Amino acid sequence: MPPCANALLLSRVNDVAAVAAELKTLCREVRENEPLRRHVSFRIGGPADVLVLPRSADELRKIADWLFKHRIPFEIIGQGSNVLIADGGIRGVVVKIGKGLDRFTFKDTRLVAEAGTGLPHLARTAATKGLSGLEFAAGIPASLGGAVVMNAGAHGHAMSEVLREVRVLVPEGEQVLGPSELGFAYRTTVLQQRRAVLLEATMELTQSDPVTVRARTDEWLKHRSDTQPIGPPSSGCVFRNPPGDHAGRLIDVVGAKGLVVGDARVSEIHANYIVNVGEAKAADVVGLMHKVSGLVAEKFRVRLEPEIKLLGEFAQTTR
Ligand SMILES: Cc1cc2nc3c(=O)[nH]c(=O)nc-3n(C[C@H](O)[C@H](O)[C@H](O)COP(=O)(O)OP(=O)(O)OC[C@H]3O[C@@H](n4cnc5c(N)ncnc54)[C@H](O)[C@@H]3O)c2cc1C
Repeated sequence: MPPCANALLLSRVNDVAAVAAELKTLCREVRENEPLRRHVSFRIGGPADVLVLPRSADELRKIADWLFKHRIPFEIIGQGSNVLIADGGIRGVVVKIGKGLDRFTFKDTRLVAEAGTGLPHLARTAATKGLSGLEFAAGIPASLGGAVVMNAGAHGHAMSEVLREVRVLVPEGEQVLGPSELGFAYRTTVLQQRRAVLLEATMELTQSDPVTVRARTDEWLKHRSDTQPIGPPSSGCVFRNPPGDHAGRLIDVVGAKGLVVGDARVSEIHANYIVNVGEAKAADVVGLMHKVSGLVAEKFRVRLEPEIKLLGEFAQTTR
């Protein structure tokens, strides 16, 4: 974007009160200067100038339309379980997609759900119907939208295996995209690079029987609680696995488990988790990420890339 266009956007966003006032005409729940730590699993981060909580697909359509039309930059969060919010918060608008955008329907083996639906809830409901395909997802704390955008996965499975199409809001309007247009790869889709709001997703499951599907779900949930820190706030795995290896293994081998910066600590249970053991700051987490990736680079000549999304103002080198 040319610098002058950028300056124009910023000057618009600086008028926070005017933006909030406009958004209040489109959406019932708009909060100014809202602390984002309340909305993310890490329990870290400063305020959003304006947090918008659409309570229906129609509200979300109107909000997205307005933001696109006025070229107002914005961030989206679902359950906020894969993000690290800067200590200074986020200038401009954040749209949180959850409650009110959580309707879903099954038609035979086909499941259509709104972006704010909890992924574990969908997985458990599918299991009770004996529908297989989402067992891996029962323990992933995600909204459906966040799970699709991240191509969330576990136990060798991922969203890409069940996803058939998504409905998205983009500056050009509303579009339906199929798997070939989504560029699914390990923990990513092209939606991460596009100005697109995921509204709804359609999944195709396989008919099996409830006993088998529930048993597999329970087995994988148990494995998760045996191998991952369940208690303290975190954002799950911090780094992407490098090709052919596991970030957790590399971090473990360099002896970084238990390493601490402020109240951020590398988990003793799973080395690729950083946990917030008190009042950790985003700067603590970033400092710890630097330490860990530095140790891994020194010993293995492997550069770890963050899996978590850093939102807000961070120094260039950390993003
Ligand atoms: C304890 C724990 C365990 C975890 N285990 C796993 C695991 O096993 N496997 C795994 O893959 N992940 C795991 N995660 C990470 C996280 O749960 C996933 O990445 C999840 O998909 C994030 O969903 P979310 O709704 O929280 O998205 P957020 O964290 O809110 O957002 C993630 C990204 O998606 C974008 N986004 C969210 N919703 C939308 C939307 N509707 N439209 C457009 N963009 C959107 C955001 O802008 C952001 O870039 C774990 C996290 C925790 C805390």
